[in-house]
Amino acid sequence: MKTLEDFVRYLRDERLKDLTKFYIDKIGSMDIPIVKRVIEKGMIKNLYDETTFKMTMDSLAKFLSSVQDGTMISNTRASLKLWAENKVPGIGRDEIHPSDLVLIYAAQKTAIFHLLPDFVKSSGEAITITEELEGLYTLAQDTAIQMLFKVQKETEEKLKESEEKFRLMVQNIKDYAIFMITPDGHVQSWNEGAENIKGYKADEILGKYISVFYTNDDIKKGIPESNLKIAGENGHLETEGWRVRKNGEKFWANIIYTALYDEKKKLKGFSKLTRDITKQKQSADDLKAINNFLDSVLENIPNMVFVKDAESLNFVRFNKAGERLLGTPKAELLGKNDHDFFPKEQADFFTGKDRAVLSQLDIVDIPEEPIDTKNGRRWLHTRKIPILNSSGHPVYLLGISEDVTEMRNAKLELERKTHELMRSNTELEQFAYVASHDLQEPLRTVSSYVQLLASRYKDKLDEDANEFIDFAVDGSKRMRQLINSLLEYSRVNRIKPFEWINLTDVLDEIKHDMKEQIEESGAIISYKKMPEIYGDTVLIGQLFQNLIGNAMKFRGSKKPEIRIGSERKNGEFIFSVKDNGIGIPKEYSDKIFVIFQRLNGREKYPGTGIGLSICKKIVERHGGKIWVESEPEKGSAFYFTIKVT
Ligand code: ADP
Repeated sequence: MKTLEDFVRYLRDERLKDLTKFYIDKIGSMDIPIVKRVIEKGMIKNLYDETTFKMTMDSLAKFLSSVQDGTMISNTRASLKLWAENKVPGIGRDEIHPSDLVLIYAAQKTAIFHLLPDFVKSSGEAITITEELEGLYTLAQDTAIQMLFKVQKETEEKLKESEEKFRLMVQNIKDYAIFMITPDGHVQSWNEGAENIKGYKADEILGKYISVFYTNDDIKKGIPESNLKIAGENGHLETEGWRVRKNGEKFWANIIYTALYDEKKKLKGFSKLTRDITKQKQSADDLKAINNFLDSVLENIPNMVFVKDAESLNFVRFNKAGERLLGTPKAELLGKNDHDFFPKEQADFFTGKDRAVLSQLDIVDIPEEPIDTKNGRRWLHTRKIPILNSSGHPVYLLGISEDVTEMRNAKLELERKTHELMRSNTELEQFAYVASHDLQEPLRTVSSYVQLLASRYKDKLDEDANEFIDFAVDGSKRMRQLINSLLEYSRVNRIKPFEWINLTDVLDEIKHDMKEQIEESGAIISYKKMPEIYGDTVLIGQLFQNLIGNAMKFRGSKKPEIRIGSERKNGEFIFSVKDNGIGIPKEYSDKIFVIFQRLNGREKYPGTGIGLSICKKIVERHGGKIWVESEPEKGSAFYFTIKVT
């Protein structure tokens, strides 16, 4: 009695090739989807090539063995498990349909039963084997289909779950309006972001045409339709523009359309992603406005302004004033560096300073630097400033240069003149000093002999001679006075270190020294507490003494009243010495400060006319000014300033 086991062994050992051939023919005639897919994917070339035949033969041999040793069901389970865990290369777990399994098993069964008549001797044997095999197949098929269902259900649930998750995610996104539209532009879904941005609730907008989101202008121009068209044709469209909320308010939007297709590549609709970027646009616009503003400032300021790249030191910006200064158009300068335009020595100097600025990350000030331009050599006062990025790394170098050529020339000329003036002044003073000093000697001789003449021969000669002798004595006295004054004048410039001077003390002392004159003239000298100043004590004493002396000397018929005061104004002290004397006609206000200039006769008001010129020199030595305000017969007020130190 032959059993299933014997049949299976017979198939495996003797008829495997025939079985394989029948099996493949069967599968080929049955149009099984999974088989088609395997071919489509290129996993096998076609059912009838040698490799496929060999592969099929191997797997049939394995199958027959499993039936023979009773492991068929467990093997089926094991291989399905592999597939359920997605471990079968090439075919995904959701790609097999239960009907595929049924068809394959059917093909297998048919091929096997086809060879049964060759093996059995009696119909009784055939029935037993057929029943047994059917039983096995049913079991295997049920197991497989059950597993398949289980797996596919799982997959389906997972898919649903992830779809739901995605839907929820989209639903809750607040910053983006994400929604679907039909191919002809009607709203199909709505998320929270869409509600926020566009202001419509889902039930108000579902089914509406997208033109409600557009401005009237855009609607007139047919923009909603053309956007749909472009997105449909290209599969994608990103655009920006004004869109309208439910309340009519406009916002600047960034919009991305993505076309969605079904399996047959037919357009199913679009997903639309809209973002409100009004704020970003506003700040971009603001930035543009600021940039334009800065540009116009840069272009119109009279100083040269340039920007260099921190790495290459190439010019990346240049303003009009810079073009004018160098005589080179901007277009020729940009992208080049100093070595392309200036003599090597200058270019090395400029770039050396640039590198210093960029490595110290600090401003460098170059008060004077020569630069050879197309218009000749100019002198610049330049400031170089590092421009850093947000992480503190220098990216640019900003340079601002003022053309100081004219100023520099004027300064040099002034220095030259001042130097010249100082030289001639010193020479003059030396001359005055030497002259007056050396004149004293012969003068002493003259005056002593004239005095000798006077004492010996007065009244021994005639009247005329007496008079001549008097003149000569007088003249020599006067000459001595003049020479002494001149000496005094030239001494003012002898430099002595400055010190703090208590003016109240100085005035007290002067009052003490001039006691005789004060008593004789009956003068009243008044002053309050005076400030301290920084200067040459002897000279300042002499200054006040001269002014007070004059105030007493040039008194009228009244008793002299002399008021000394001080006032602090604009960083200076203004001192005043006022009297009630004879006054000075306005036209002489300047003349009186010139050396040897006097307004009154020597008989009534003795003097050499040097006092005020000494005063002027003293005040100027202290960096101040002196002037007089006066009215004849009423009195004079002398003012001078000294800096507050
Ligand atoms: P001196 O006093 O030796 O004449 P100064 O240089 O001191 O020389 O003064 C020049 C002239 O200015 C005087 O001769 C006088 O005419 C006039 N002067 C100076 N101080 C006064 C004053 N306080 N009031 C009126 N005239 C004055």
